[in-house]
Amino acid sequence: GAGTHEPLLAGLNPEQRAAVTLPEGHALILAGAGSGKTRVLTTRIAWLLQTGRATPGGILAVTFTNKAAREMLTRLSGMLPINVRGMWIGTFHGLCNRMLRAHHKLAGLPQAFQILDQQDQLSAIKRLCKQHQVDDQRFPPKQLQQFIGSCKEEGMRPRDVPQHNPAMRRQAEIYQLYEEQCQREGVADFGELMLRSFELLRDNDPIRMHYQRRFAHILVDEFQDTNRLQYRWLKQLAGDEQNGQLRTMGSVMAVGDDDQSIYAFRGARVGNMQDFVREFDVRQTIKLEENYRSYSNILDCANALIAHNARRLGKNLRTAQGPGEPVRIFEAASDFAEAQWMVDEIRALTSAGMARQQIAVLYRSNAQSRVIESALFNAGVSYRVYGGLRFFERAEIKHALAYLRLLENVHDDTSFVRVVNFPPRGIGARTLEQLQDAARSAGCSLHDAAAQIKGAAGAKLGGFVALIEVLREQTQGQSLRAIIERMLDASGLVEHYRSDKEGEDRIENLHELVNAAESFVVQEGFGRDAVALPLDEQRGSGLTQSPVSQGLDPSQPAAGGFIDQDTGETLSPLVAFLTHAALEAGDNQAQAGQDAVQLMTVHASKGLEFDAVFIGGLEEGLFPHDNAMSDQAGLEEERRLMYVAITRARQRLYLSHAQTRMLHGQTRYNVRSRFLDELPQEALKWLTPQRAGAAQARGGAGGGFSAWSDAAPSRFGSKGEVFASPPVPPQKAQPAHGLRVGLAVFHTKFGEGKVLAIEGSGDDARAQVHFPRHGTKWLALAVAKLTVVD
Ligand code: ATP
Ligand code: MG
Repeated sequence: GAGTHEPLLAGLNPEQRAAVTLPEGHALILAGAGSGKTRVLTTRIAWLLQTGRATPGGILAVTFTNKAAREMLTRLSGMLPINVRGMWIGTFHGLCNRMLRAHHKLAGLPQAFQILDQQDQLSAIKRLCKQHQVDDQRFPPKQLQQFIGSCKEEGMRPRDVPQHNPAMRRQAEIYQLYEEQCQREGVADFGELMLRSFELLRDNDPIRMHYQRRFAHILVDEFQDTNRLQYRWLKQLAGDEQNGQLRTMGSVMAVGDDDQSIYAFRGARVGNMQDFVREFDVRQTIKLEENYRSYSNILDCANALIAHNARRLGKNLRTAQGPGEPVRIFEAASDFAEAQWMVDEIRALTSAGMARQQIAVLYRSNAQSRVIESALFNAGVSYRVYGGLRFFERAEIKHALAYLRLLENVHDDTSFVRVVNFPPRGIGARTLEQLQDAARSAGCSLHDAAAQIKGAAGAKLGGFVALIEVLREQTQGQSLRAIIERMLDASGLVEHYRSDKEGEDRIENLHELVNAAESFVVQEGFGRDAVALPLDEQRGSGLTQSPVSQGLDPSQPAAGGFIDQDTGETLSPLVAFLTHAALEAGDNQAQAGQDAVQLMTVHASKGLEFDAVFIGGLEEGLFPHDNAMSDQAGLEEERRLMYVAITRARQRLYLSHAQTRMLHGQTRYNVRSRFLDELPQEALKWLTPQRAGAAQARGGAGGGFSAWSDAAPSRFGSKGEVFASPPVPPQKAQPAHGLRVGLAVFHTKFGEGKVLAIEGSGDDARAQVHFPRHGTKWLALAVAKLTVVD
């Protein structure tokens, strides 16, 4: 009734309120960072439900990450007494996956199809190239992976690839072979999820019409980062084209910020915003101009910076909050000194009462995190890295998942290759090649070809095949937990790592996998004996059902499973879990250390906010990145990235750069980023003297300036643990650290070791130490706490 929705709208400003309560019809909310776009989107869904304008089954909402989807669901269930399980809220990939499971026959996939992540995909391509003698000089697998990915993003199948020269023809051939391989093995990569789901809608009128009728409200967050195929997918769901005119049934609300478009390199297209307005004939465009996140010093920096971009749709941000603290800028002598400064500031913040998880350290490239991690580690500050090596991407977890996937589908060759000789079973590369040849000529999977290999090698292969068979039988009908525990044991994985010196962490992670499965079962509502289904899909084919018939019913059981639209067959918890593992890699990190400083790339920080934000490595060539500085478009994307980074901060913002930095095994001498010179002086506080910056060093000539050291090229090998010799010639002064070559020392993480060499002095002093258990490492003495062992 009237007034009941007041609490929902109470905290909103007039523009936000207008956006939340827009009448039917398509709308674009175009607004800057922190203006409440995501909040408007979530509140809109709640409002639609509460006022009876929509049912949970009639809404489709696309978020940028799984984490965002979960947050949205949590907030919705906080606002309304409804069961949000089974609502179509998720990422593009998550939603496509769901649609494909439900209609897998029409989509030409096995119901239990497995998802290949980037890494799996690359190894599948490598395997294929080897089999078909593809010249990897001319066609490097990485490049082929990119090629296939961008074809799919453009909606192109192999036959659609323009083949005007032999190279293109060859690539199209490989793409074709890759598709056949995936089909044979019953797997799909991320791009395939999107493309196949699009084709499913495009080529099946009843299915398309069903979803068009069903989703009366489609809402998309971070719309500026959608790619062409995603946009076309949305269009299929929204309606059909007739005489060149789009006839839609529901309403689409897109929410975005052109200044935060940071995925052009992955095919995202800001142009989708303009296309959306034109093709959907959008009448309602709402701008939000009030920023609720940041103090004005921070906001002034963001505004001034982004004003340097020429190609903008144009909006402004203001805040009612006061100026707050000035934005602090620090120049460090080295990346080590920079990290140490961050740690000192972080400690000051936490001792002043700020929670660690409210502090974020952002960087442009993943490679930057290691130095920061080691400084935090040595200072005993707990931290958590997002991205990088995620839980589901760790080697031991991928091995375990491969066994699980084989239990589900023995023809999954990618998984077969991964674990046939892991733990080692004496099955060598030669045997594997033989097996692959046999499989190819018989046109079957590696599993099926194993019987053809004779002799000792054949016996070993037979042993592996038998292991999988037995395990399959033993785990029939078992709970997810029991399946995983049985597998960990029978595969020999745990035992293998037990004999490994560094295996302790890995075993812990394997046990964590059991926990992850357990919490998945609870979260997704997979009961002990019944697989619960999404509301709509519990009722027959669902194809003829109108959205209106799916009432708001809190008494419905938890839902989240998948059901085959033809047979009514439900997906096993194991398959659902494997899918979850593939799609959620990234956000589902070990839950330990909640009270931890958050480390992540700027890309990963989109949509998030923190009380304090550190942005390190503000140096020409790093941020803006070398790869992007050659043209205007690239530079503008880097600037948008910086805009995203700055606008994550609520109260405090710290910017820093280092004169020298070790990256990829080389010392770099850096000039501070031009972005620092684009900020308004009034909002800043330079903690170190502000010297000639990028602008002056470049002499106004445009183009980037950054020097790779010729003097100190990769002196100490590779392996990630390599540190630079100091940029200045080693001084002869008396060392303050009291170390000398030959001394035995103790390190808190690496244990006892022996000093092999010492370089530099003062803050830059480093020692090369050999640790029997961890190998030889270069350590920054200002950071690493080494004690001399008598
Ligand atoms: P981004 O572009 O970074 O994704 P956004 O536009 O989605 O930002 P939100 O994350 O929705 O912004 O909101 C930013 C912050 O401001 C949140 O903490 C949100 O709760 C708060 N906020 C939004 N609107 C209001 C309001 N009317 N009153 C008070 N706080 C608000
Ligand atoms: Mg947002």
